[in-house]
Amino acid sequence: MELILTGTGTSQGVPVIGCKCEVCTSSNPRDRRFRSAAIFRDRASGWAAAIDCGPDFRQQMLGIEQDKLEHILMTHEHMDHVAGIDDVRAYNFTAGVTMNIWATERVQNRLKQQFSYAFHHEPYPGAPRINLRDLPKSEFSLNGIAVIPLPVWHGSWPVHGFRVGDVAYITDVNGIDNETLQKLTGLKFLVLGVLHHEPHHSHYHLDKGIEVAKSIGAEMTYFTHISHRMGLEAEMNANLPDGIQLAHDGLRIPVTL
Ligand SMILES: [Zn+2]
Ligand SMILES: [Zn+2]
Ligand SMILES: [Zn+2]
Repeated sequence: MELILTGTGTSQGVPVIGCKCEVCTSSNPRDRRFRSAAIFRDRASGWAAAIDCGPDFRQQMLGIEQDKLEHILMTHEHMDHVAGIDDVRAYNFTAGVTMNIWATERVQNRLKQQFSYAFHHEPYPGAPRINLRDLPKSEFSLNGIAVIPLPVWHGSWPVHGFRVGDVAYITDVNGIDNETLQKLTGLKFLVLGVLHHEPHHSHYHLDKGIEVAKSIGAEMTYFTHISHRMGLEAEMNANLPDGIQLAHDGLRIPVTL
């Protein structure tokens, strides 16, 4: 099993259209970031659960040759995490599966509004076929693999991260309650959303992210959901504390169950 970070950028992605800053014009491929998303998968068994399907979903799935997919775990309803929903049609058509999207009631209601054509009682031929599933409040088995939902705060919104084995993925976040912290013990790898250097109303900024990463104490923490305002990947990673790095698109993290 592994967790692949298929995107590590904030909502606009990096580079930002029209921006000429040193990050957006960098020639280092690690300074190019799709919108944040990830996938837990086990190539041997074919087990896979994507996390979010933002606007870059199609390119992300092509990039890792994810030819079959039946499950998407939704962190929350912001467009940078759901805008690729129409592209689940590829899995509907080629693999013949109805996509299971696991989400809280609030997120489900939002999806029904934003993508009403897909949930119409008589959808037009070719509309995405989606099966909305209630995200359980605590650990559940997804085809035999234990998935632990991690409730966290994203501004005033309750949103979710996910843990499988010794790896946890928490993207948009600026607060973690004690109850969830207790679900983050014994981690080998933590993926944590950290936006840039300045305090923000709904994301951790760098100093706070470092503090939180140290207190959770995973052996290795990778920051994701990164803004172009974070700075160059190479310069940042040369100066972060031991055990903390900026992630990059395509990063593969081994998962021990
Ligand atoms: Zn986001
Ligand atoms: Zn820029
Ligand atoms: Zn968000």
